[in-house]
Amino acid sequence: MSCKFNFSAGPATLPKDVLVKAQSEFLDWNGTGMSVMEMSHRGKEYAPILQNAGADLKKLLDLPENYKALFLQGGAVTQNFMVPMNLLDKRTASYVVSGYWSKRTFNDAQPFSGINIAASSESINYTKAPKIESWEYKKNDAYIHFCSNETVDGVEYFDDPNIKDIPIVCDMSSNILSKPINISSYGVIYAGAQKNIGPAGLTILIVRDDLLDFADKKTPSTLNWKIQSENNSMINTPASYGIYIAGLVFDWLIKQGGLGSIEKINIKKSNYLYDFIDSTDFYINNVDKVNRSRMNITFNIYNDELTSDFLAGAEKNGLFGLKGHRAIGGLRASIYNAMSFEGVIALVDYMKEFKNTH
Ligand SMILES: *Cc1c(COP(=O)(O)O)cnc(C)c1O
Repeated sequence: MSCKFNFSAGPATLPKDVLVKAQSEFLDWNGTGMSVMEMSHRGKEYAPILQNAGADLKKLLDLPENYKALFLQGGAVTQNFMVPMNLLDKRTASYVVSGYWSKRTFNDAQPFSGINIAASSESINYTKAPKIESWEYKKNDAYIHFCSNETVDGVEYFDDPNIKDIPIVCDMSSNILSKPINISSYGVIYAGAQKNIGPAGLTILIVRDDLLDFADKKTPSTLNWKIQSENNSMINTPASYGIYIAGLVFDWLIKQGGLGSIEKINIKKSNYLYDFIDSTDFYINNVDKVNRSRMNITFNIYNDELTSDFLAGAEKNGLFGLKGHRAIGGLRASIYNAMSFEGVIALVDYMKEFKNTH
């Protein structure tokens, strides 16, 4: 039983081309005689790796001049307290709760005062994200926080918020770089790399320049966006190898034609799977059609007792990582940028066969 297609939610599958390139450069990067892992992060050999990764990320996102892209650590969850530390400045903030991750973000922010709920879909089991127009916030809020794709619940926002008066902070961990976005709709975007970008240990943060001046004085330097920004993400040793792999992924995305092309493929892949689920009375997905995630497709078998057989059979067919998150159970196929259409076809073929034999 070896893995042909990996549907894990994260750490997740990476483009094969990227892994092959990393392997070919593993012992000797660019004739330096060193592995990237062994290089000083301040040395002349490493400098272009960081430089190019940053430039390619900016290119992919079409990042305006007044935004910084930082390579941080600590994962997305560390931003749950870094965001208030860097931005709250004794004011209030409003949080949209649309699933497991944004609920956790809201809870983690509670030790700070002035944290309110803007909208919540908890009472409907997160089957539909609260409409942007329904978010309630205060006119003096420091920011509004939301999560653009709920990895556990399979719920995605497709529109960029059009709220001009309050900065929007967005956890984009699981759908960053899956489609073009309008950056100027956001004040801050953050994402753990291990879903759609690269290895765990690297966290991407995009921040608008004017939001760098609000950090609490007690914020430690490694957690202070402004200090990190002024030090080129190197106030201490960055996740140097993770940045290198992320750079290879950015390059791969540019070669795929950029985010517009990737979005088309993501629509095709997710439609193929949802259309199949909807065509059966064997599998079910309960998420409202307007919010069905293109990245994390949650589903159940009507007869839930078949779930463990489904998973065992999937692995026999080389299909790994389909178990739903421990918080909600069921099944989940994560089909990030690196998952090929071929992988989705293999999954649907297996689902058909399992249905016919059960
Ligand atoms: C995975 C995930 C997280 C947690 O990321 P860590 O890097 O483990 O801290 C947070 N938010 C979303 C949307 C995620 O998908």
